[in-house]
Amino acid sequence: MTGRDLDPTILRLLGSNEPELDCDECFAQLDRYVELELAGAPADMHVPGLRAHLVGCPACAEEHESLRALLELDSVS
Ligand SMILES: [Zn+2]
Repeated sequence: MTGRDLDPTILRLLGSNEPELDCDECFAQLDRYVELELAGAPADMHVPGLRAHLVGCPACAEEHESLRALLELDSVS
């Protein structure tokens, strides 16, 4: 017994320290996230939870890929 183990249900109620966005929030932040990424800024610090969502959500990951490709083309021309 370490005494540090908290009931997962309580942790859930408190909100974990790793926020994760849902698809709507992810979509709303995606533009900004990709712009930060392409600017070399720490996008994960500015938009916490988005990376975690992309890892778990293939649909948004695909959206992220195509948006990124689009903006990369944009910045070249
Ligand atoms: Zn999603």
